[in-house]
Amino acid sequence: MKYIGAHVSASGGVENAPVNAKNIGATAFALFTKNQRQWSAPALTAEQCERFRLACADNGYTPAQILPHDSYLINLGHPEREALERSRASFIGEMERCEALGLDRLNFHPGSHLNQITTLLSLERVAESINIALDRTHGVTAVIENTAGQGSNLGFAFEHIAHIIDKVEDKSRVGFCIDTCHAFAAGYDLRTEEACRKTFDEIDRIIGLKYLRGMHLNDALKPLGSHVDRHTPLGEGAIGWECFRFIARSPLFDGIPLILETPDESRWSEEIAELRRLGNDTTVLP
Ligand SMILES: [Zn+2]
Ligand SMILES: [Zn+2]
Repeated sequence: MKYIGAHVSASGGVENAPVNAKNIGATAFALFTKNQRQWSAPALTAEQCERFRLACADNGYTPAQILPHDSYLINLGHPEREALERSRASFIGEMERCEALGLDRLNFHPGSHLNQITTLLSLERVAESINIALDRTHGVTAVIENTAGQGSNLGFAFEHIAHIIDKVEDKSRVGFCIDTCHAFAAGYDLRTEEACRKTFDEIDRIIGLKYLRGMHLNDALKPLGSHVDRHTPLGEGAIGWECFRFIARSPLFDGIPLILETPDESRWSEEIAELRRLGNDTTVLP
């Protein structure tokens, strides 16, 4: 079963996200549980959590179909102690919000070394940050997203993700998410079915697909290996539909949220419908 959706707005309250997702025909969704550009937010009340749970139940969403994303400000590999502590506190807060909402995973970008410490040292800080957060929370899996490798961002090489997971103590609550645009920008080819197979074989060998907890489906504005993070609607970028057909049809991606973060939200329902059509289309099986 494929769960396909988009990163929808939660403006006006988290309980609006499942309704927004339902309106575009989504069977999965992503959301920010607080303003993604601010450090703090008032704690969720029991009533808000209850409204969210009810809206999810009413619209047919279980936790396996929902991939919350944390704030962009958080850097779990920060080179400076004080800033690292702030990020860790904020991340724990995000994990707690997910727990309160009954969600089972939280998607985040690993962080940046800011050219002040080595990649390895920064990756170890990320792992330590995850260990601390997992210790303080229950039932929520930390889902590391691969990145395009812009600037000093970690997580563009699959080895980075493998290294973090290796250092996380509770392997039952760590996983990863592959963003197709980011992987392509990082230099992993996805333009043909054969290229996709090769890239996902590599992911399996280096990280292990058993840790895969979600996908971000985005086409890429810039060419292979550009390290530039610019999404386009599916089929309009340098990756193309063959990749998304592969994902829509491969059982590797069953049972996890497949989330569009494409720029034109007026086209999400169309993109979701096309992914579903491709997934059901067995007439073009190789
Ligand atoms: Zn993404
Ligand atoms: Zn991106």
